[in-house]
Amino acid sequence: MPYYNSELLEKYPKLLDYFTKGISDDNKNISHCLLFWGRDISSQCALALEIARLLNCTKDKTPNCDCLNCKWIKEQTHPAVKIYTRLDFKEGSSTDDDESTKGKKNININQAKAIINELSVTSDYHRVYIFCDRDEDGNLLPLNQINFPEATSNALLKTFEEPPQNTTFIFLTNDKTDIISTVVSRAQAFFVPASDNEQEDYNLVENIISDYWMLERNQVLEFENNLYKLISENEPKEIFTQIQNYILATIKANSENKPLFYRLKQDMEFVEDAKRQISLTPSMNIQNVVENLAFKMILK
Ligand SMILES: [Zn+2]
Repeated sequence: MPYYNSELLEKYPKLLDYFTKGISDDNKNISHCLLFWGRDISSQCALALEIARLLNCTKDKTPNCDCLNCKWIKEQTHPAVKIYTRLDFKEGSSTDDDESTKGKKNININQAKAIINELSVTSDYHRVYIFCDRDEDGNLLPLNQINFPEATSNALLKTFEEPPQNTTFIFLTNDKTDIISTVVSRAQAFFVPASDNEQEDYNLVENIISDYWMLERNQVLEFENNLYKLISENEPKEIFTQIQNYILATIKANSENKPLFYRLKQDMEFVEDAKRQISLTPSMNIQNVVENLAFKMILK
């Protein structure tokens, strides 16, 4: 089953750019725990394998690179790049694949222990463990709390938090709520849209804006600084648009919660104002715009 798929990768120039830069730049290393969410698990897996390739390539990291690591990853025979599902684990001494995994419902504690053991031995490669689910025919499926239960997550929590050097974990899922929150909070999450039509992209802003309405008054400066840093490093308009995408998605998910709904609708307008200010008046001091926006969004 070819999980490495360069055609699927073409849908994600921005994500690829983010990871390529992060992996190439000594100062801007990517997180060792990544969580992909969205409907398209095959694309998530192709992205995860591409990240594994960028981390292991010994030549120039170009898509057509012919180094041994790139070749192995494209063929899915790399010894340190693994896709972990409930079905890819042999219990005890059984050598019969079908027998040992038949009816196996989840990535269990024994599997978690085997991973911890494996990681205790050093590796010459950058290890990338991709966690997801699959059916008997090899079709990829998302993680959820049944196939990746709390007990297994807990057994691996310390490993996720402080992995050995050169180790990256990637979780593939439909929605962040399908993974227990202690794992989510240790991971950097990325929305992977299923197609170009799916416009709810807010990868760049998610880490700083997630649940921002829960922030306290004394956190407004930190929020403002994070937002300003992000805007200085990117196209400001794109950041504001992504904030709006995030707010819109939250509105959709919380239509029953009226107080939050009205607050978010108001915030949408504040962000729209900020966006208008910087496009109409390019000389406008961006720091002032950001400060204004942060105070409006948090201090009400
Ligand atoms: Zn290579």
